[in-house]
Amino acid sequence: MAGRTLQGIGVAPGVAAGRAVWLRREAGEVPVRRLGDSEVQAEQERFRAAIDAARLEITALRKRVAADVGQAEAQVFDAHLAFLGDPAYAGEIERKIAADRVNAEAACREVTEATRAMLASLPDEYLAARADDIRDVGGRLMRILQGVAGVDLAHLTEPTVLVADELVPSDLSGLPAHVVGFVTARGSKTAHTAILARTMRLPAVYGLGEAVEAIADGRMLVVDGDAGRVVLDPSEDEVEGVRRDQRAQAELRAQAEARANEPAATQDGRRIEVFANIGKPQDAEAAVAAGADGVGLFRTEFLYLENDHWPTEEEQYDAYRRVLEAFGDKPVIIRTLDIGGDKRLPYAELPVEENPFLGLRAIRYCLAKPEVFRTQIRALLRASVHGNLWIMFPMVESVSEFRAARAFVADCREELTQEGVRMAADVKLGVMVETPAAALTADLLAREVDFFSIGTNDLTQYTLAADRGNADVAHLYDPLHPAVLRLIRMTCDAAENAGIPVGMCGEMAGDAALTELLIGLGLQELSMSSAFVALVKERVRGVDAGRARERADKAAAAETPDAVREVIR
Ligand code: PEP
Ligand code: MG
Repeated sequence: MAGRTLQGIGVAPGVAAGRAVWLRREAGEVPVRRLGDSEVQAEQERFRAAIDAARLEITALRKRVAADVGQAEAQVFDAHLAFLGDPAYAGEIERKIAADRVNAEAACREVTEATRAMLASLPDEYLAARADDIRDVGGRLMRILQGVAGVDLAHLTEPTVLVADELVPSDLSGLPAHVVGFVTARGSKTAHTAILARTMRLPAVYGLGEAVEAIADGRMLVVDGDAGRVVLDPSEDEVEGVRRDQRAQAELRAQAEARANEPAATQDGRRIEVFANIGKPQDAEAAVAAGADGVGLFRTEFLYLENDHWPTEEEQYDAYRRVLEAFGDKPVIIRTLDIGGDKRLPYAELPVEENPFLGLRAIRYCLAKPEVFRTQIRALLRASVHGNLWIMFPMVESVSEFRAARAFVADCREELTQEGVRMAADVKLGVMVETPAAALTADLLAREVDFFSIGTNDLTQYTLAADRGNADVAHLYDPLHPAVLRLIRMTCDAAENAGIPVGMCGEMAGDAALTELLIGLGLQELSMSSAFVALVKERVRGVDAGRARERADKAAAAETPDAVREVIR
């Protein structure tokens, strides 16, 4: 590409061209005004009115995102609404107005910043995302209090790339159709806005750092979310090429969506199951509507993260039953609790660890806390009569660990039988292959488990010793590294030899550019966000499994991730 290139992190795939428009969200300097005693009550009332106005705005945004993007994505705004009613946040601002005798804007800025800093300092990706939420809510309140209108993009008509220091979820909702991509100085792949951008299918490049300042308002840009690059002042030919690709993509998508509910097989007749990853029971209906052949990963930790208490057996049973019923006789793979690592529970009393990703996480935690594990396994077994349940254990690193988990399930089954509870006779038990140890001993595990599902998000970080959430090593975190590909192949070969199903539920599975490679490596099932199901199915239909195998052999023999990309291009 001819223009100057800025390198960042691609957080949402695709390529788009448009003119830069800077999004400056801040309402500017926040005025500080001292209040007289008689003014305090009126100021508190003004603040409460701002809370009401913010609640209306956020509820409207939530509705719009639910309609345009999806229910699951709209739930980001539930956290915002919760802050508005939170005594430790909104209540604290009201108290501060009285205690410090200051105007609402000043109190709001101070409490927002203190809360944000407190959340951001916690070593936890989930809570760090709450820090973005609080900034979003605080910015909105200050804007309302100052009577400043939000950023108005509706007057623009040309394809537009939003440029910002950092984006918050509200920035991405209700955007006009001519917004074609996002570029920021800061942010990571796991930010809520990155997930939203992927779901909206708009390319995004984050993490340009100070280089973002080189992008002046109105400059032409190409955003390449696959390569994590931004091209400044591209030639007309480049822009036309990008637009042609976009039109072709849109046509492909329309065609894919028309056939989303049909099964997907390669040209030479190999059936590939395309499943959905879900995080909440209410995502199940959307996954069915998107054409998913089953659920490849239900991340049950959301049930735990959203509660302020251990979810009871009854609460869990209801959640699992809802998902199983939505899918009828199609497989639903429910993963047992994967807590620890980057996911912490305020009520779980997890130990403080030097290396939480290498610590008491996932199956290790569950085996160490039988009372927690028992509640979940009992709920799962009870729900098994409502559909086709497969239970999956996360982060297993040895045959002994799987055996312990299997024995635990047998114990719970025995207990429920004694109580006269009905259960499905055949509940499959499998493991996520997401540690190098599991992949390297896949042949041993394959003799004991009913199925494998490869978790490339963790497999990549553990194989390459590169933290999946650390922007400083994001350039090293690459699932196309030959080491990761070899482990995937090893796992698929072991599954094939043992005659058990092997799927993949890491982010990699939803990347349609990799579908041929994954089929060639031996995957039989791919599981992804519902938004990608139709497109991946369509890709499957264009693949010749024999040729895919040859290409995958070449890719697995390549020396570097870039060489792998060359092979599969
Ligand atoms: C994975 O590690 O690839 C995976 C799917 O699990 P999670 O992202 O929930 O750790
Ligand atoms: Mg994982």
